[in-house]
Amino acid sequence: MRFVSTRNESPAVSLSEAVMTGLAPDGGLYVPDALPQLDVEKLNPEAPLATLAPRLLAPFFAADELRPSLEVMCESAFNFPLELNRPHGDEARFFVLDLFHGPTAAFKDFGARFLAECLTRLKQPEDPPFTILVATSGDTGGAVAAAFDNRPEARVVVMFPEGRVSSLQQHQLSCWSRNVLTLAVKPDFDACQALAKQAFADEEMRRGFNLTSANSINIARVLAQLCYHAWAALRVHAITGEPANVIIPTGNLGNALACVWAKIMGLPIGRILCATNANETIPDYFLTGRYTPRASVPTIANAMDVGAPSNFERLMALGDREALTDFGVSAVGVSNEAIRGTIARDHQRHGLVWCPHTAAGLHAYHGLVGAPKQQPWVLAATAHASKFPEVVEPVIARPVELAPPLKALLDRPAHFETMDASLPELLRHMREGLGHADRTRINASSGFPRP
Ligand SMILES: *Cc1c(COP(=O)(O)O)cnc(C)c1O
Repeated sequence: MRFVSTRNESPAVSLSEAVMTGLAPDGGLYVPDALPQLDVEKLNPEAPLATLAPRLLAPFFAADELRPSLEVMCESAFNFPLELNRPHGDEARFFVLDLFHGPTAAFKDFGARFLAECLTRLKQPEDPPFTILVATSGDTGGAVAAAFDNRPEARVVVMFPEGRVSSLQQHQLSCWSRNVLTLAVKPDFDACQALAKQAFADEEMRRGFNLTSANSINIARVLAQLCYHAWAALRVHAITGEPANVIIPTGNLGNALACVWAKIMGLPIGRILCATNANETIPDYFLTGRYTPRASVPTIANAMDVGAPSNFERLMALGDREALTDFGVSAVGVSNEAIRGTIARDHQRHGLVWCPHTAAGLHAYHGLVGAPKQQPWVLAATAHASKFPEVVEPVIARPVELAPPLKALLDRPAHFETMDASLPELLRHMREGLGHADRTRINASSGFPRP
């Protein structure tokens, strides 16, 4: 299979090249020249994700140098539980797909871990270690650092905005092995992102550190994500005899796009409803047919604070608004008040505690009316509630118990360095901080209160 740019001005490449490059040279995103059609009848709905995934992904890897490793990569990347539950009772046709049992308790672990498997295998023995540079507003940096932690082939530089992430997030960004350098950058996320861009544009820096990107436009992340949507759809279909309708809390559209691809590949998926927060670029597009990217506004579901969704180009490569609507794709925006209200209501009625992003999706489910509501629905639960205690605890008026993977992280010492957003500063920190065996780690410097 070959991969082409959404902007059609770069040569087609192999999957490995697409994974290594991230963004196509013309600024577009890599997509397969045609999505494979699967013989879905032959897929076993009882198979665990690690077994199902290679069968789904084999056509994408056909003839690629990574093909012989596909089974092993899936086995290693998807080594934590994936669960489909019916929290409102076994008779209910409401399913929740728990995507938060990975090392950093959010769905980004699937994509980041699979990407790590791909990249570490693509490194030639004679190459110097590659350096993943990631600017993060919270969740992504942790998932990427965790995925590459302790891998000698890779070094990771995480830049987060100083003082702008929660104490739990800060710890999760800075509690890794020596191959991860964590930097608190002043003053905000925009500065982090601008600095990362500057570094990638700097030839000396890019070559000197063998810089690579792991952001959400990397095709490996989308491929990993389509696997769990397929896994859930097969199970729901086996249980109910009907296709699964899916609700996806949405920011950069990576998770939702993966679900659309899975449906095109023939999996039993019905409607795909994207739930954004107050950043309504996608809902507005479906309403008006016009795409108007804009600056993001901060919300309590901050991992979805995106005004210009990076995967929109991949969605557009599939068809226009009419085509997408006919295919069952839609979007709805959910306000902070509605998110809080949904968390409170489901806690009161069912004793359940949702993360703010998942709650946006649940609100969208409650808003369904008529015949569609009678059909089976799957809500993608994108993070564990305990990642967002600042939002959730005041609403339910009690503490949320930490997810087990997060508890384990708290036992690790944390260390980060603070710096101004300048390229020379970044260079200095990277020269001094990367790969030094004697770099000492300062315990509890993240200030996170230990339980
Ligand atoms: C990243 C993230 C999202 C948004 O996913 P996209 O693929 O960017 O649309 C939703 N929820 C959580 C918890 C996230 O971390």
